[in-house]
Amino acid sequence: MALYKAEAVVLRSRSLGEADKIVTLFTYERGKVEAVARGVRRPRSRLLGVTQLFTHGRFLLYERKSLDTISQGEIVRSFLPLREDLLRMAHAAYVAELLDRTTELNDGHPRLFALLLMVMEMLATGPRLALTTRYFEVQLMQELGFRPHLDDCVRCGAQDASWFSVEAGGLVCGRCRGADATKLDHESLEVMRYMARAEPARLGVLRPSRRALQTLEDVLPKYCAARIGRWLHSMDFLLSLGAAETQGVER
Ligand SMILES: [Zn+2]
Repeated sequence: MALYKAEAVVLRSRSLGEADKIVTLFTYERGKVEAVARGVRRPRSRLLGVTQLFTHGRFLLYERKSLDTISQGEIVRSFLPLREDLLRMAHAAYVAELLDRTTELNDGHPRLFALLLMVMEMLATGPRLALTTRYFEVQLMQELGFRPHLDDCVRCGAQDASWFSVEAGGLVCGRCRGADATKLDHESLEVMRYMARAEPARLGVLRPSRRALQTLEDVLPKYCAARIGRWLHSMDFLLSLGAAETQGVER
């Protein structure tokens, strides 16, 4: 029975038996890991805090044939606003579900871990939550090999491609576009291109208009859903709140 250390963010948890939980961790070392937290639903459990949703922690785990077991854990960042502020929570839940649905167990991906951590930090403390979530979508798709084609028409190579087709996987021109394509104004396209190449720290220079944000919210969640083959319930919830967000003050 081997012990191993993992730095991780809690993506998901569900009850098991009377007092346990199965926790889905996204670790730096091994990618996604599922592990049992024994007795965690009892009051005064040592693992209670560190297994809270979206918490960034350092864990000590027992490797087992079926499910690993969390032996110890300490909180690095609790990301409390992600559990206390409904809008921040909705964004974090979508980000966590998207990552959970697109990654396999025990497939280490340090760059995705770094991206997740940075995005959770920005969602917990930053302004412009919608832009942060769009950034995560673009960067996640790139890391998984589903980079949207943003240079010219994906079908014929024409330069004047200003429609976005979820089905085609990127830009299409007016001649190649199908019924599903969404017209991108110049700003939306530039913001999308910028997000595809920018480091997270550079995201702050973007000040997209409400209209551009709305356009990106129309296409990017659909693009992700098409690549992973399903629509996420957490997106419906986020969209129901997001209407208030993009029409009101962008936080
Ligand atoms: Zn074309």
